[in-house]
Amino acid sequence: MKQVTTGAGLRLALEEANSLGRRRVLVPTMGALHRGHLALVKRAREEAGPDGIVVVSLFVNPIQFDRGADLDAYPRPLESDLAHCQAAGVDVLFAPDVAEMYHPDRSVTVSETCLSRGLCGATRPGHFDGVCTVVLKLFLLSACHAAVFGEKDFQQLAVIRRMVRDLDVPVEILAFPTVREPDGLAMSSRNVRLTPDHRADAPRIHRALMQSARLTDVAAILDAARKEITASTFARIDYLELVDAGTLQPITSLSHPALLAAAVFYGDVRLIDHVLVLPIIC
Ligand code: AMP
Repeated sequence: MKQVTTGAGLRLALEEANSLGRRRVLVPTMGALHRGHLALVKRAREEAGPDGIVVVSLFVNPIQFDRGADLDAYPRPLESDLAHCQAAGVDVLFAPDVAEMYHPDRSVTVSETCLSRGLCGATRPGHFDGVCTVVLKLFLLSACHAAVFGEKDFQQLAVIRRMVRDLDVPVEILAFPTVREPDGLAMSSRNVRLTPDHRADAPRIHRALMQSARLTDVAAILDAARKEITASTFARIDYLELVDAGTLQPITSLSHPALLAAAVFYGDVRLIDHVLVLPIIC
């Protein structure tokens, strides 16, 4: 595995692959890798083929954080991330620092102005501008043919697909389903920051979403999910919404596939999850 920290180093590492026309597949991450990330890497390898190049980027992107404390507390276990990537057969690991990625006087931002407005975009101002900007930079730096993203960050996936469509970015976007702990909690780099009490309670988010998604009425679904989550003395809802799975706009009736999505705080750790809700066709 080649490990590079600069854009120039990345180009050099990919030069041979470029000249041979090998398929390059990127997995963008913020590190603190877990089984969810590694499943994306496996998917990237399948997509690249044995002769292709799998690039993993590892960059805690400051401009997508709305809370400084969250950025400071974000786990950065570099040594174990390196070992995971090595073991997973990653070809190139790109781990730049902030100064490498952003000029001090940078003045260009990529903004998606529709799908990014609700859900996480509403409670984390500027978050998706930061995501789009860094992802487009990573696409350009790696000159990847394809990139793999997790469905866990469903809104992020939708926003990136829209960016790629609207800006004619020549990168194929591949989605991978959410990888969960045995108790149902969606794997997240932030899970290690939960206290033991909070960790034990946190599977209720997925349980609440799953149970209430079986109901057929929008108000009843939201009510049931809210009751189950707020039954915890630890959990604080940041948002709980039922939105159209395509437009991400709130819905009042279940006529199209919908997304029941929640962001929940445990202390200062914010967790997100969602389930798809399909309309019952009679
Ligand atoms: P992050 O490091 O949290 O920015 O995530 C990097 C990529 O891994 C994103 O595409 C995420 O959607 C994806 N990811 C994070 N957690 C999971 C998970 N539990 N299952 C599947 N993909 C995930």
